[in-house]
Amino acid sequence: MISERPEPPPADLPEPTDDDYRLGTHAYTNEQRTAVLAKLEEHLSRRRGRLLGYQTNLSLDGHASLGRFLSYHINNIGDPFVDSHYSLHSRWLERAVLEHYARLWHAPLPLDPTAPQDGDGWGYVLSMGSTEGNLYALWNARDYLDGNALVRDEISGDASCRTTYIRAKHPDDNPNAYAPVAFFSQETHYSHIKAMRVLDIPTFYDLGGSLYPGQCPLEPAGAGTQTYNGWPLGGVPTTGGDEGPGTVDVDALVALVDFFAAKGHPVLVNFNIGSVFKGAYDDVEYACERLRPVFAAHGLVDRSVRFDPDDPDRVSVRNGYWIHVDGALGGAYAPYLEKARDAGLIKTASPVFDFRIPEVSSIVTSGHKYPGAPVPTGIYMSRAGSKLRPPSDPAVVSSPDSTFAGSRSGFASLAMWNHLAQFSEEQQVRQAAEVLQVAEYTADRLRNLSDLLRERGEPWAEDGIEVGHGDHALSVWFQQPRAEITEKYSLACVPLNLGGRRHDYSHVYVMPHVTRELIDELLDDLARPGAFDRSAEGDADRPPLPRDHIPQAPTRTAPSPRH
Ligand SMILES: *Cc1c(COP(=O)(O)O)cnc(C)c1O
Repeated sequence: MISERPEPPPADLPEPTDDDYRLGTHAYTNEQRTAVLAKLEEHLSRRRGRLLGYQTNLSLDGHASLGRFLSYHINNIGDPFVDSHYSLHSRWLERAVLEHYARLWHAPLPLDPTAPQDGDGWGYVLSMGSTEGNLYALWNARDYLDGNALVRDEISGDASCRTTYIRAKHPDDNPNAYAPVAFFSQETHYSHIKAMRVLDIPTFYDLGGSLYPGQCPLEPAGAGTQTYNGWPLGGVPTTGGDEGPGTVDVDALVALVDFFAAKGHPVLVNFNIGSVFKGAYDDVEYACERLRPVFAAHGLVDRSVRFDPDDPDRVSVRNGYWIHVDGALGGAYAPYLEKARDAGLIKTASPVFDFRIPEVSSIVTSGHKYPGAPVPTGIYMSRAGSKLRPPSDPAVVSSPDSTFAGSRSGFASLAMWNHLAQFSEEQQVRQAAEVLQVAEYTADRLRNLSDLLRERGEPWAEDGIEVGHGDHALSVWFQQPRAEITEKYSLACVPLNLGGRRHDYSHVYVMPHVTRELIDELLDDLARPGAFDRSAEGDADRPPLPRDHIPQAPTRTAPSPRH
C-alpha cells in the first residue's frame, strides 16, 4: 500500500503546552496557527511510533486522503436504513459497513428493512465508541425485559401512539416478572457499569446484598474479594481470580442466574470478547449452553408480556433474558481468528460469540480499536425482532429516531468504510494471525525476561515480573516498571488486588501497528538494571484496593422479595 502520510514535522519542536493554544479575543495569524498546530502534530507523530499500552490500531495509512471530506458536515441523523431530508450524509457507506459486520457476525440484514425476518440483524455505526453501544444495548435490553413495546408489537387503540411508554403490568403471581437483574464478570469495562447506573439497572450484588443477605449461592469469596452481605462486589468471579486469564467463571454465572431466575426475575447477561485489561474472551457459546436449561426451567423462554390484563390480544411473546456481547476490541478481531484457524494459519481460535448462538441478542465493537479509525466510532448490532419502538417520532428529521444520538457522525462511517475497502478478506485474516503471533512473541519474551530477573536477583523484581497472557489475548500484562518506561511507551497501568495486597501492573496491547522490533526495544529497556525500581515513586506497601463499584440500594425496580 502506498503511504499517504504527510511529511513529518521537524522533530525538534518542544511539547505543546496549554499556553500555546489559549483562545482569546484576537485571532491567531495563519503563521501562528500553523506553527502551534505543527507542535501538536509533532507530538502525535512521535508518540504514535511507540504507543504500546492501549488497544487502538494506529496503522491508519489509507486515511489521509479523507481530509477533503472535512469541508463537509456529514451527518447520518436518524435511522441508517431510512434516508432523512438532511442530504449531506454517508448512509450508503454506513449500510455497507453494517452489511460487512452483519456477515461477520452471522445476522444478515433484512432485504426489506421495514419487514425483518427472524434471525435478521439491525444496527448502526456509533458516533462514540462501545460506550455508546453498551448504553444503547442495555437500554434496549432493559426495556425489552421490563415489558415495553417493541417495533414489531401490534398495539391497538390509543396506545399505538409512539410517544406512549407502553409497559406491561406484572402478573399477580410474580411481582419480579419485569424487574431485570444484570450479570457481568469482574473484568467488565467501566462503561458497562456506568450504563447500568444511568439506566438504573440493578446488578445481582446490589439486589442480592440488599434483598437476600447471606443467601449468595457461591462458595464464600476468597481473601481480598470484597463482598456485600456475602455477595461478591464488582461482578461474577473470573476463573482463577485476579491471577487467572480473566474469563468469566461459567459455573458461578449459572448459579447466580439460577438464583434470580428462580425468584421470577428476567436476566440480563453481559459477556466480554476482549476484556479491557486482560483481553479475555468469555466462552459465550458454552455459557449459553449452560444457561439454556436454566432459562427454560424458569419460564424465561417465549414468555407472554401482557400490556392489558383485560385484553388477551395485547400481548407480546418474547424471551425473559437478554445476552449482550461487549466486543469493544475482540468483536471485529476474533472472527478473523476463526477464519485464520480454518485456513491453517493458526492452531486454535477463540470461542464463538456471535449471532450463531441463538441466545445472543446484541453485539458492540469499537471501530477505532480494531480494525482502526481516526475518530472514535463503533458498531451496534442486535436482532431486528428485539428492537424497541423509538420513544418519539420527530417529523423534522423524517427518519425514525431509532439510534442513541440525534446527529450522528457521517465521517465515522466514511472512515470505517475506507478502512474496510482497502483490505481483502485474505489480508484481514493474515493480519489477525500475525497480530496474535506478535502477542505470543511478546508474552514469551517477557516470560524469559522474568526468569532472567529472578536469576539475577534484580532489586524490585526478585520474584520475576508476574507475566500474564490469556489464550488468544492481545494483551500481555506484567509488573509495572518505572515511570520513564511507562511514559516512553504509553503503557497502561492498573493496580490489581491479589490476596488482599495491591500489585501494580502494566499491560502491552499488541495491535497491528506493533512490530517485533518495537517489542524488542521495550524488552531492552525492561532488561536494564533498575527498570522495575519504583522506590522513588511512592511506597510499594499499599493497602488493598476497594472495588470501584459502591453498592447502592436499588431504586427503579424495588421489587418485593419472593422466596
Ligand atoms: C474500550 C472498551 C469499551 C469502551 O469503548 P470506547 O470505544 O472507549 O467507548 C467497552 N468495553 C471494553 C471491553 C473495552 O475495552
